[in-house]
Amino acid sequence: MTDHSKLKPGQQKNIRESREADALFNSMGDGAITTDEFGRITRINKPALKMLGFSRTELIGQPFLKNVVAETLDGKVMGVIDRPITQAFLTGKPVLGKMLYRTKRGDLLPVDINVSPLMFDNKPVGAIEVFRDISLELEIDRMKSEFISLASHQLRTPLSAIKTYTHMLSDGYMGELNELQKSSLETIINASNRMNELISTLLNITRIESGTISVNLKTVDIDELLKEILPELTIMADGKAIRLNVKVHANGSIKIKTDSLIVKEVITNLISNAIKYTPDNGQVSLDIKPRTNDLLIEVKDTGWGIPENARDKVFTKFFRGSNIVKKETSGTGLGLYLVKGLLDALGGKIWFKSDEKKGTIFYISLPR
Ligand code: ADP
Repeated sequence: MTDHSKLKPGQQKNIRESREADALFNSMGDGAITTDEFGRITRINKPALKMLGFSRTELIGQPFLKNVVAETLDGKVMGVIDRPITQAFLTGKPVLGKMLYRTKRGDLLPVDINVSPLMFDNKPVGAIEVFRDISLELEIDRMKSEFISLASHQLRTPLSAIKTYTHMLSDGYMGELNELQKSSLETIINASNRMNELISTLLNITRIESGTISVNLKTVDIDELLKEILPELTIMADGKAIRLNVKVHANGSIKIKTDSLIVKEVITNLISNAIKYTPDNGQVSLDIKPRTNDLLIEVKDTGWGIPENARDKVFTKFFRGSNIVKKETSGTGLGLYLVKGLLDALGGKIWFKSDEKKGTIFYISLPR
C-alpha cells in the first residue's frame, strides 16, 4: 500500500478528491462514460459496461462514437455531428436526449442521456455522459397508448347505440314526448356528443403518439371548409353573446392542398377554446390570409389570456391554465396537445401571443 502521509496537505487533498470522484463514478446506478478532447473513452463504470455489453478493455482508450453506435428513436443511425457528446463539445453546453445505443450483442437499447462538457480554461477538454436504460418506460408508454386506443374503440360501439336511440326518441319515432322528456333527451344528446368528442380526441392522440395518423392531401376550398364548421361554432358563440367575425383576406376562393379533416379539427378546436375562454359579450375573430408559401390562420379573442409563466407548457398534455381552472371547469387539457400533433403531421406550425388583460391570438401556418 502507498504511504500518503509524507505528501503535502494540498497533494493529499487532490488524491482524496480524485478517489472520491472515482468512488462516485463507480457507485452510480446509471451508466457513466468520460472522454478526452479527442473523444476517446477515459473512464467507464460498471453499469455502462453492463448495459452496452462490452468489457472495460474493449472500450478504454477507444473512440467512443465509433465503438458505441447510436440511432435516433425512430431508427436512423446518428452521424458523428448529431451525437450529443459532439454537440456538448462544440457548444460547451450540457445536452440532453433520448436515443438508442447498439449493444455489443447487436440489440438496440433505448437510453436517456445527459452529457456535460468538461471545461478547462473555458475550453472543452472532454465530456462526461451519464445515461440510463429507459426500455421499461417506453414499454409502459406503449402499453398506455394501446390501452387508451383499445378502450376508446370499445366505447364507440355502445355510444353509437345510445345516439341512435336517443335521436329516434327525440324525433318522435317512439311516440309523442312532453316538454320535460324532450329537454331531458336534449341533455342526454349533448352529453353523448361531448363523450363522442372526447373519444375522438383520445383516438387521435393515440394515432399521433403511435405514428399511425394518416394524412390525406386533397385540394381543399377554404370557403367550403368554413361552411362546414361555422354553423356549430356560431351557435356556441351565440350561447355566450360572443361576436364571431370571420374574414378571408382574398379575392376569390382559396384552394390549398391539405388534409381537410385535420384543418377542420384544428380550427374548430382553436375557435371553441377562444369562445370558452372569453367572458360573455366578448369577441372572437378568425382571419385567413394567403401568403406566398403558406396560409396564415389567426384566431383572436378578447378573453382571459394565458398566464405568462405557463407559456412553454401550453402545447403539453393535460395543461390547463391556472387562471381559468376555476372559471371553466370542463376541459381536459388535451385539445392543444392534439392540435400541435396534427399540425406536426401536416407540416404546419402553431404559435400564439397572449395578454391576460387583452386576450389571445393563436397563429397557424399551413404549408401550401
Ligand atoms: P381544454 O380547453 O380542454 O382545457 P386545451 O388543450 O384546448 O384544453 O387548452 C389547454 C389550456 O390552454 C386551457 O385549459 C386554457 O388554460 C388555455 N387556453 C387555450 N386556449 C385559450 C384561449 N383562447 N384563451 C385563454 N386560454 C386558453
